[in-house]
Amino acid sequence: MNHQPYAFIGCETPYNTADLVLFGAPFDSTTSYRPGARFGPGAMRAESYGLETYSPYQDRDLCDIPVFDAGDLELPFGDPGPALDCIETFTENLLRDGKRPVLLGGEHLVTLGVLRALAKAHPGIHILHFDAHADLREQYLGQTLSHACVIRRAWELTGDGHIHQWGVRSGSREEFSFAAQGHVEQRKFDCDGFVQAVERLRGQPVYVTIDLDVLDPSLFCGTGTPEAGGIAFDTLIRCIPAMGRMDVKGFDLCELAPQLDPSGVSTATACKVLREMLLAV
Ligand code: MN
Ligand code: MN
Repeated sequence: MNHQPYAFIGCETPYNTADLVLFGAPFDSTTSYRPGARFGPGAMRAESYGLETYSPYQDRDLCDIPVFDAGDLELPFGDPGPALDCIETFTENLLRDGKRPVLLGGEHLVTLGVLRALAKAHPGIHILHFDAHADLREQYLGQTLSHACVIRRAWELTGDGHIHQWGVRSGSREEFSFAAQGHVEQRKFDCDGFVQAVERLRGQPVYVTIDLDVLDPSLFCGTGTPEAGGIAFDTLIRCIPAMGRMDVKGFDLCELAPQLDPSGVSTATACKVLREMLLAV
């Protein structure tokens, strides 16, 4: 691990007594447009000191939640295969110790490393996916391991009916028809139906992956592939408390590229989403 100068605010429970373990995967080698997501985890930790540990949305405080911040994985750049192996092995070790993984990307491909470990540990796991992009390509520029293919690779692990997407507003015709054929439950443009999905999935193992570019880029421009349109911050934040009613086995936030938003607002927004997720699950 690459230990960081600070933990994310309020995440200072020792490893042995922690339930949730936060770790960064600073990898963006397959980013197709604007790189920089490798700087996401470090920027979030530094910026988190501008955030209150208390959430008025949920009347809960991070100081009361057992979270350990493990720092960042030291990942090889270039070939994504060894980086994913490293994330998978780290996650397997967490699961063996009875911890739940909380991954900070990095580009969205890093999610696959965690999912490979979780799909083995929790057969039948459901994946709740927030993203501007469907990420369902069979391959992208000849690569099957790409941020544009990550949910297709996830589908290969889970099969039909286990992937549920919200906020999708970009993808190829093939990606949308793949979803429409019944392989993936896909909600375009908004987050309608989220609470009903939570009720349906109660008691089943779930993983939540939030590609932060699901947010409207006029409020979240610090990301590699901004897509006009998208959901408002309040829409996302109002979905989060319901997640506590499911058996959440882990979650991630990906695709913050902090240097693409010199105002710092995107990083501050990502920190607040992370706080709310930690408090909810
Ligand atoms: Mn994505
Ligand atoms: Mn995306």
